[in-house]
Amino acid sequence: MSKQQFQTEVNQLLQLIVHSLYSHPEIFLRELISNSSDALDKLRYLTLTDEKYKALVGKGIEPPRIDLELDEANKTLSVSDTGIGMNEEDLVSHLGTIARSGTKNFLAQLSGDARKDSNLIGQFGVGFYSVFMVADKVEVVSRKAGEEKTFKWTSDGKTGFDIEEVPGADARDSAGTRVLIHFNDEGSQYANGWRLTEIVKKYSNHIEFPIFLTHDKSEWNAEKKESIKTRTTEQVNAASAMWQRPKSDLKDDDYKEFYKSITGDWEDPLFWFHTRAEGTLEYTTLFYIPAKAPLDLYQADYKGGVKLYVKRVFIMDDSKDLLPQYLRFVRGIIDSEDLPLNVSREILQQNKVLTNIKTASVKKILSELKAIATNDPGKYLQFIAEYNRPLKEGLYGDFANRETLLDLIRFKSSKVDGLTSLAEAKERMQPDQKALYYITGTSESMLRNSPLLEIYKKKGIEVLLLDDDIDEIVFSSIAKFGDIDLKAVSKSATSEDLKDDSAPDKAEEIKPLLEKIKATLGDAVKEVRASSRLADSPSVIVSDEDEPSARMRQMMQAMGQKDLPELKPTLEINPDHEIIRKLLVDTRNTKVEDAAWLLFDQALLLEGVPLEDPTTFVQRLNRVLNESI
Ligand code: ADP
Ligand code: MG
Repeated sequence: MSKQQFQTEVNQLLQLIVHSLYSHPEIFLRELISNSSDALDKLRYLTLTDEKYKALVGKGIEPPRIDLELDEANKTLSVSDTGIGMNEEDLVSHLGTIARSGTKNFLAQLSGDARKDSNLIGQFGVGFYSVFMVADKVEVVSRKAGEEKTFKWTSDGKTGFDIEEVPGADARDSAGTRVLIHFNDEGSQYANGWRLTEIVKKYSNHIEFPIFLTHDKSEWNAEKKESIKTRTTEQVNAASAMWQRPKSDLKDDDYKEFYKSITGDWEDPLFWFHTRAEGTLEYTTLFYIPAKAPLDLYQADYKGGVKLYVKRVFIMDDSKDLLPQYLRFVRGIIDSEDLPLNVSREILQQNKVLTNIKTASVKKILSELKAIATNDPGKYLQFIAEYNRPLKEGLYGDFANRETLLDLIRFKSSKVDGLTSLAEAKERMQPDQKALYYITGTSESMLRNSPLLEIYKKKGIEVLLLDDDIDEIVFSSIAKFGDIDLKAVSKSATSEDLKDDSAPDKAEEIKPLLEKIKATLGDAVKEVRASSRLADSPSVIVSDEDEPSARMRQMMQAMGQKDLPELKPTLEINPDHEIIRKLLVDTRNTKVEDAAWLLFDQALLLEGVPLEDPTTFVQRLNRVLNESI
């Protein structure tokens, strides 16, 4: 037997657990029970679908159960299950490394601040290693279903671990795992039957498999007038598939406990939606919205949060096909009566039953969210703070639910504080306002100060401020909200809406200057024209209706798109601006050339586009500055 080292990340995690997790040490039990439950789920599935395992039932595979055995005198507790078990290789890879991408993400986000980090850790669940909060030694004895050998993994959670084969008579005679905990000082409070019962009821009551506790139970003996201890085994959990129980039987606490048991989250969920469908398709869904967005929400290798069951048999988790990608933050279960047990991941994608369940589930989730938005706006804003952006992704991919999603998304606005909905913005429209307007960009303050807003401010028209990086791509494909046009203020035609017909045509007056600027800028611009949308700024960049904006082009380039068609921005000039009036005096003046470039470059900068040639820009600026001082 030789010592093996933990993977570096495991060491990091163990350090953290020991140093900053003491606020909730009791969750070690929830984590171990949930692992046992997973192991039982996996084995049950195999015995139902695979002849080889079917044949082993009763001969190496025992009925599913979880046992807690407490030895108060020696301060040890064992958590055993009759589940799938682990062989030598499994023990090394599952209990010596961190394979889960979520955990790696988590470690990457650690700040070193113990309080912050322990909050973070609460959101994601620490799994098996949490046992070292309460133990100074842990032994895991396991036999994998279908195999003969038993192995023992031993560790103090500090210096690595040992693995040895458990020989002959000491070996397990059936598949499963036994985790033996030697409590440390902190953990000795759990060497108490009453306390353990309480913890199981709190976190694991709705684990589907029976959990038995064996301990020395004190009972009052009336005859002898003293309390005597008897070794007893009793079931401590309700052991029902909680989602199958009628809603009327379930309390909020039941829902919260179940949520925590399947996610490992410490916080209560924001809301949950429990649905039983009876009709052509029979299924039950129970969906939860976590209070905090999952850490891997924006990772390409995120984990799906919905577990699939068929007739209460666990089939798979982390499938990305059970809900559309934009709803990847939803946690919970789908339990179908109509799918075959041996449904594979590949089949899932084209399975009609599942497609129908999925479509109905999305509708259900969105309509429930809409109801919350109406009935409990404060709570809804908590939801939006975490999930506004994924909903926007839905606009891009989920055409069928576009209108509902548009209703659910919230926006910053040039007119009101906080967040607003399109419906509310529609209510606030001016009598002569022709469309709902928005502006996209990278920072809210830049948007608030954009020259493009000047005319709207002047006319008292609201503009929605979209500062998520995906907004431009998403919203450029959406033309309407109901019967109202949605328009980007950066598009050239949008200003037509605002034209004041009674105003004299200034374009004619500044034509010579416009021509001079166009001649100076040459191919850098498509067109130079007089603007009707500016009040305080001399110039602004706009793009044509069917063209990507300057910033969008820049993003497309950054993403590696090379063969973008040559597109030139259009420069608009404010005929009323003082600088422009001065330039008009003598358009042959050589200063006009510097001015033309500066007007163009500053408009690009305000649009959020970095200059191609900052050196020349600075030289020009200094030249003009020098002359003015
Ligand atoms: P998670 O449960 O999220 O995968 P854990 O740290 O809790 O992470 O467990 C790590 C892995 O160890 C599990 O994925 C599983 O493969 C294995 N494991 C832990 N406990 C058991 C058990 N009782 N029976 C079988 N395998 C187990
Ligand atoms: Mg686990």
